[in-house]
Amino acid sequence: MFQNSRENKTSLSDLGEFGLIDHLTKNFKITHESTIKGIGDDAAVLDFKGKQTVVTTDLLVEGVHFDLAYMPLKHLGYKSVMVNLSDVYAMNATPKQITVSIAVSNRFPLEALEELYAGIQLAAELYKVDVVGGDTTSSASGLLISITALGAASEEDVVYRSGAKPNDLLVVTGDLGAAYMGLQVLEREKEVFKVNPNSQPDLEPYSYLVERQLKPEARKDIPDLFKALELKPTSMIDISDGLSSEIIHLCKSAKTGVNLFEEKIPLDPAVISVCEEFEIDSTTIALSGGEDYELLFTIDQRDYDKIKANPNFTVIGHMAEENEGMHLVTRANQKIPLIARGWNSIGKEEE
Ligand code: ADP
Ligand code: MG
Repeated sequence: MFQNSRENKTSLSDLGEFGLIDHLTKNFKITHESTIKGIGDDAAVLDFKGKQTVVTTDLLVEGVHFDLAYMPLKHLGYKSVMVNLSDVYAMNATPKQITVSIAVSNRFPLEALEELYAGIQLAAELYKVDVVGGDTTSSASGLLISITALGAASEEDVVYRSGAKPNDLLVVTGDLGAAYMGLQVLEREKEVFKVNPNSQPDLEPYSYLVERQLKPEARKDIPDLFKALELKPTSMIDISDGLSSEIIHLCKSAKTGVNLFEEKIPLDPAVISVCEEFEIDSTTIALSGGEDYELLFTIDQRDYDKIKANPNFTVIGHMAEENEGMHLVTRANQKIPLIARGWNSIGKEEE
């Protein structure tokens, strides 16, 4: 990895700030009509021509949100963009532009930032967003990346967190828990590597999990699918922190309760088997794992026919009156209160 091969690397101080910005951004092309001016002035100029604009930003900090011991920089660049685009799709909007700000220590040679930007560029190309600006500064030790995404949507298409009504169906895309278990597998390999640096990890049985952790894809297809199905969700949110906390966000914003059915939660077989191996409960992982970047939304019951045959969607429960509370209905048909537990509390004793 790059930290171990400093020879033949270009020090950032050789380039200077402006040389660095120019070097990193020279390949970005402008593709959207709404981008009037991208990189190169004091500010970008955008024109969404009567559409509403959604803006979202995320800050990723080395040692808190990512570990470069197992996160290749190209993947990190790609993932940093995905995290933001996922929020734009969760508004039922189309991302158009991003800005990328980085703080780096002199521990990183130019080649490391080129890798990071290769991932950013790949994501920008595949998801059709223009990189229109950013900021570049130094940091005392680690790497920080802040990305802001802008998207456009017609006023009538924007979906908020707050629109759910009692009896609306609660629906999720894809499957849950894989990214968190991918992280557990990578953490385990990191510990093995510390003890025996010559060990070659066999990640093949875990490839789906590791890919969900290192190369997540935002659900670009879902807003398009909603249009094709002539379906507008009543509320929506993306799953970054874990299913239970996102459901609670929807309920609190809409002042509703919920019944979530454990047996309906979509799990990939790879998640079920790795949970057995790690001796953790797969429902706990789906509820609290996070980083799935799937979409969670509610629909009116009358729209059920539009989604029922579609393999992208799983109905996992329904909204309820606020005074009925928020519950998980277990496989044993027990009703237990749904609680928001972040990824960092998994495995700890329940209060
Ligand atoms: P200012 O002094 O106004 O902050 P900069 O010299 O930092 O301007 O930036 C010059 C141009 O390069 C601006 O358009 C800015 O948005 C863009 N830019 C700076 N850093 C980055 C980066 N890391 N990635 C993409 N664009 C950047
Ligand atoms: Mg600047």
